Amino acid sequence: PELQSAATQAETVAEKLLASLNQPFELDGAQHYSTPSIGITLFGDERLTVDELLKRADLAMYQAKAAGRNTQRFFDPDMQAAVNARSNLEADLRQGLARNELLVHYQPVVDHHARLMGAEALVRWRHPQRGMISPGDFIPLAEQTGLILPLGQYVLQTACEQLQRWSQHDSTAHLSISVNVSARQFRQAGFVAEVLQTLKSHNADPRKLKLELTESLLLGDIEDTIARMVQLKSEGVGFALDDFGTGYSSLSYLKRLPLDQVKIDQSFVRDVLSDPNDAAIVRTILALAKSLDLEVVAEGVETTGQLSFLRLHGCEGFQGYLFGRP
Ligand code: C2E
Ligand code: MG
Ligand code: MG
Repeated sequence: PELQSAATQAETVAEKLLASLNQPFELDGAQHYSTPSIGITLFGDERLTVDELLKRADLAMYQAKAAGRNTQRFFDPDMQAAVNARSNLEADLRQGLARNELLVHYQPVVDHHARLMGAEALVRWRHPQRGMISPGDFIPLAEQTGLILPLGQYVLQTACEQLQRWSQHDSTAHLSISVNVSARQFRQAGFVAEVLQTLKSHNADPRKLKLELTESLLLGDIEDTIARMVQLKSEGVGFALDDFGTGYSSLSYLKRLPLDQVKIDQSFVRDVLSDPNDAAIVRTILALAKSLDLEVVAEGVETTGQLSFLRLHGCEGFQGYLFGRP
């Protein structure tokens, strides 16, 4: 009960602090606003050092920041466990990168005659103890920690090497490779130069490289995004908007981005035959892409039924287990 009342009091104090720090203030004649994040930890009978207490409050504060700032959070032990697991995984991933445990698999992308047009590069982590780990389990962490930068560069290099090898044979010279690029990677200073340099050093044809961006990029500085895309496009590099329909898409932005392709997210394809809403979304995306003169690739095509539906409504590019696993 004492702890409970201490918690209530701390919360009240934090609310008061937030309210007053939220008042706009004037500095040098200009209006400023701040959005503080407050971390709170309680201590009672348990004997903890000042350092440990401050560390806990600090963790709670980062939790408040992650919750969108301008709020307060209490430290709790689950938070600590999650933080520990994360930092172990981070250390592991850092080592994994250094020890070449990351590898790239390719998944075929086919046209409406089921002819191979190219492939998507999908990264995997062959962990010495945990076996093969899929990107969904480490890409978010890599994004948060900045490890996505060396990781992304590794995938890009690997894809460029592959393009160069494919260019040597008549049967594979036409194939393109799509590489996923996360927002953080795309926004880093020097990204454009890095891509062009990687293509050049592997003697790979820029017109065979497609970068897959997600809608989250539209949330950032849109002018900067367009400028970067235009620079790469002028060298021949193509662009696809990945997981289309799942995120934030402003149609007016969509029109302004120099895109070549949109990829219909697999979550719409999965139930396209049974869920009328998904069917409507897929038809709408196909019509929209057509009017904007964009290629479409449907992702996650697993059955001939899904394929027939997609073809019937004008889809001309397909990717999924029906044609090949990564
Ligand atoms: P994504 O770019 O949308 O890739 C498609 C995902 O769908 C892949 O999952 C692929 O294995 C899976 N998939 C393909 N066909 C089918 C199908 O018929 N049925 C089902 N159920 N799934 C199918 P994966 O390889 O686990 O990758 C997950 C996500 O991780 C990717 O989604 C992409 O966003 C991200 N990712 C993968 N490699 C990289 C990378 O090198 N860099 C970055 N930044 N992200 C990556
Ligand atoms: Mg993709
Ligand atoms: Mg996708």
